[in-house]
Amino acid sequence: MTHPPPHAHFRPRLATTVRLGLSGLLLFSLAVWLSLPLLGGIVDKANQVRDEYLPDLTRWRYNTQRTEQLYGFIQTLYWSNDAQVARSSRLQAQVLLDSFAFEPGNALAAQATRILLDIQTLARLRDSQRATLHEVQTLAGALLRDDAISDDSARFAASCTRLGLIGTDWQALRQEADQLQTRLPAGPAKNALAELQSRFTQLQALETQVGQTYQQALGQQKQLAATLNTDTALKTQQIAMAVEKEANQVRHYGLLTMLLFGAITLAMLYAFQRFLLRPILHCTQALEQLNTRQTVHLPGRTLFHELDTICQSVSQYSDMTRQQQHVNQELMQLSQQDGLTGLSNRRHFDNVLAVEHARACRHAQDLALILIDIDHFKALNDRYGHLFGDDCLRQLAGVLRRFSRRPGDLAARYGGEEFALILPGMNLEQSRQLAERVRQAIAELTTPTDSGEVVHFTASAGLIHTSNAPRHTPESLIHQADLALYRAKQLGRNRVEVAGEAVPQS
Ligand code: GH3
Ligand code: MG
Ligand code: MG
Repeated sequence: MTHPPPHAHFRPRLATTVRLGLSGLLLFSLAVWLSLPLLGGIVDKANQVRDEYLPDLTRWRYNTQRTEQLYGFIQTLYWSNDAQVARSSRLQAQVLLDSFAFEPGNALAAQATRILLDIQTLARLRDSQRATLHEVQTLAGALLRDDAISDDSARFAASCTRLGLIGTDWQALRQEADQLQTRLPAGPAKNALAELQSRFTQLQALETQVGQTYQQALGQQKQLAATLNTDTALKTQQIAMAVEKEANQVRHYGLLTMLLFGAITLAMLYAFQRFLLRPILHCTQALEQLNTRQTVHLPGRTLFHELDTICQSVSQYSDMTRQQQHVNQELMQLSQQDGLTGLSNRRHFDNVLAVEHARACRHAQDLALILIDIDHFKALNDRYGHLFGDDCLRQLAGVLRRFSRRPGDLAARYGGEEFALILPGMNLEQSRQLAERVRQAIAELTTPTDSGEVVHFTASAGLIHTSNAPRHTPESLIHQADLALYRAKQLGRNRVEVAGEAVPQS
């Protein structure tokens, strides 16, 4: 079974992906824009509520209020003794009920017509009662003026002249009139009482009709009020439900949009961080840490071709720079080193001496310099050969390395078979002792020749020490040490001489 090569997998291009992402955002914005009519619909609904439903509601509430007024008019019609007041109530009720004819739908108008008929009947019946009552009062007045009537009849007639329409028991009056009449002799008075009897009967009958009509009118009024109340409640409920539905739509739509937008934003942020930012950050870190020993792991493969190219280039550049740094370091070391002994060479020695002299001047520190020269080295070379001489030079270098371990100490090959030690911060006695120990160590060296012979050699040393560096220059220090070395040679070699010290008298 063969696997497809890695490059056969789908790898999007960064530029294409960015374009696609922007197009997606554009499409999303378009979708939001296209859904704006929904919001417009909600505004329309709100306007409808304001222009239609609310005026309707107000009218219905007004109608309910008028129905309550109607109740008052019916009560007045029924209970009022005053014909004028009753008439005014009837007219007002009529005007009020006429206005229901303009309401939409026939139900209200029909109910209003029925109430109006009842009210008119009630008013008519009351008017008839009033007219009959007036007749009763006229008849009673005539009866009073009759001298032939008894006292009972006179009292009855007098009470009849004061009768009111409301709350009078017509039946009881009729019975009273019946009794009086049986006691009266025939004559005009008896006739008058008979007339009163029939009027009371009429009034009693009318009162029964009035009561029925009154109850009927009240029933109709109650029904109208109930219709209006139910309609108002229903309409209010309908409006509330419509508004709630629209509000819910807005809420769901808003929530959905926000969720969608949030999800898209999060996904884009994650993708941006994971696939774009992270590789770029790694490259930046790798570039920043080129000067340090730390190595940053660069992703071998990213989502995009372009980033791959960048990462690879950074990786190559990083490797190249590190190699370059390594080579430079080696070159630097080589340029400072003596090839044969591995000690510092003359150029490095000169530089370090200048630096240490400057430091000693700055900090008023001690500074010592020892120059060492192998004794009769030419003769050794001549006798055992140059390669043997080279071995001697290497061995001596080993000794110097051992005695220059402090930070700041420097052992160098000054030239040929001459060596130098720079010893900063070391006092005269310490440096003299050190020079002596070096001399001794050299004298104790044993160097084998090719023929197996073991050879010893010695060296002379010249030491210069100063605790007042500004009085010297690096050159004058070398010169002084050289003079001391020369003196050591003069005085027999294999010895240490200190610059500026008197030559001991032999
Ligand atoms: P003195 O005690 O007075 O110093 O005697 P000397 O023989 O050491 O005197 P001189 O300074 O004239 O001799 C130095 C010799 O060191 C000359 C040269 O052949 C030898 N020499 C210089 N550089 C090297 C080197 O790199 N290898 C070897 N084998 N010999 C060297
Ligand atoms: Mg020499
Ligand atoms: Mg020599």
